[in-house]
Amino acid sequence: MVASVIDGKKIANELHVEIRAKADALAASHGVVPGLAVVLVGEDPASAVYVRNKVKATAECGLKSFEFKLPAETSEAEVLGIVERLNKDPDVHGILVQLPLPKHIDSDKVLGLIDPDKDVDGFHPLNAGRLSVGLPGFVPCTPRGSAILIEKVQPDLSGLHAVVIGRSNIVGKPMAQLLLQKNATVTIAHSRTKDLPAVCRTADILVAAVGRPEMVKADWVKPGAIVIDVGINRITTPEGKGKLVGDVAYAECAEVAGAITPVPGGVGPMTIACLMLNTLDSAYRAAGATV
Ligand code: NDP
Repeated sequence: MVASVIDGKKIANELHVEIRAKADALAASHGVVPGLAVVLVGEDPASAVYVRNKVKATAECGLKSFEFKLPAETSEAEVLGIVERLNKDPDVHGILVQLPLPKHIDSDKVLGLIDPDKDVDGFHPLNAGRLSVGLPGFVPCTPRGSAILIEKVQPDLSGLHAVVIGRSNIVGKPMAQLLLQKNATVTIAHSRTKDLPAVCRTADILVAAVGRPEMVKADWVKPGAIVIDVGINRITTPEGKGKLVGDVAYAECAEVAGAITPVPGGVGPMTIACLMLNTLDSAYRAAGATV
């Protein structure tokens, strides 16, 4: 079997078009343009690329962006002050603080200060709680985007077995919650899981969010399974070139899976599209309009 490729880039672009139409409609009906504030502290090159891509998508979707690029030595108090200002700014519907923050800044403190109603990353404990008890709130962008990709190939997950490798608060745990909401039977695997390949082989839907280059091999994949590769790993090829790979050994797993996401061009663009979607949702809510 050769897997069908789940084209995250194309699906994300389609989502951008829909978001733009809805943003334009809100501007016309309520005079409100959804606004996203992005705070970047320091010069981490990967973070700079992520922020650039997010700002580009904001423009594509017809949203307003507010960028705060601060030097690495910015104090925690200054960052907290900016978050407080953005919390009060009615033109800002979403606040994103790019992680990782420099070591002298307590990320939990900064993320915890973001108004949960502007927490478009969905990292605030209140939004994590809302997701786990099934209340409406912001869902972290990567799991939300991954769930959309899964739905494109398999709209009904009822009774299917989903295995999520990784239990982080930003990917693994919320991903498992979403799959559970869709009536999948969910297993969360992690670094202490015994016989991980055997666990993965039972998955109808396998989500890898680990951060280990090409860890998932073909013989970990059940024939016909949906494989979602969240990992983004920068490796150096034997020729000395830099390359992005996922947590899944793509070429060999594509021989076994039913559908698979590539890296790049799979989950990554969906993460950004869902950030736009969360900002749009927030602006609609703030304006008292229905999406
Ligand atoms: P974390 O490092 O926070 O979590 C990694 C998880 O993988 C942990 O739960 C860890 O287990 C588990 N793990 C580590 N090694 C193994 C192993 N050998 N076997 C089984 N489980 C293991 O990472 P994130 O969740 O933040 O990110 C995961 C990946 O997704 C990274 O590559 C990251 O770059 C990528 N990412 C991609 C995004 C996108 O937009 N596409 C967005 C966010 C992340 P334990 O808890 O036991 O330590």
